[in-house]
Amino acid sequence: MANLLIVGPPGAGKGTQAARLAAALQVPAVSTGDIFRQNIKEQTELGKRVTAILDAGEYVPDELTNELVDDRLAQPDAERGYLLDGYPRTAGQVEYLDGVNLRRGEQLDAVVRLIADTDEVVRRLSARALEQGRSDDTEDVIRHRLDVYERETAPLIAIFEERGLVVEVDGIGAVDEVTERILAGLAARGIEA
Ligand code: AMP
Repeated sequence: MANLLIVGPPGAGKGTQAARLAAALQVPAVSTGDIFRQNIKEQTELGKRVTAILDAGEYVPDELTNELVDDRLAQPDAERGYLLDGYPRTAGQVEYLDGVNLRRGEQLDAVVRLIADTDEVVRRLSARALEQGRSDDTEDVIRHRLDVYERETAPLIAIFEERGLVVEVDGIGAVDEVTERILAGLAARGIEA
């Protein structure tokens, strides 16, 4: 049972690490970005509403994003906890998640902060652009997403630091090594795989 967040700039490796941690800790990895992309692919109503927003590297409005997370966390597989990747990204989303946890009678157990410098994340995102062809991995949009992250999301980490929840991990290195670092950091807080 663990309620966790993984935070860090686009390109820090959150998605890759979230999948591994989720398997190790037996909680679902919930990526709002993945859910939006899936809806776009399937051309659902939600997908149609958010296509242009994702392509521009802007944030989807909180009302839409919050509702989506609420629905996802109400699924049976999230009863034992969750690992949120890419949420919360705004102050309003932090507040909303606090409300969700309150209703569950639970709280956040830890926030994994992946550290990676700008040169490294731009390099990784450009490589991913070639591999996956994500429509928001073009150079201009990458830079914009990093700006939006610095402005809207990076300042929120202070809230979790005040709550004593942050496990800071160097995100540079082999994927396995980074996973080991995160698991060690979580184990030190009593969250065991
Ligand atoms: P990601 O895969 O986490 O990099 O997310 C890709 C895109 O989905 C972002 O650039 C936003 O357009 C949108 N998105 C994902 N999560 C959120 C969120 N929590 N709040 C607002 N927009 C989001």
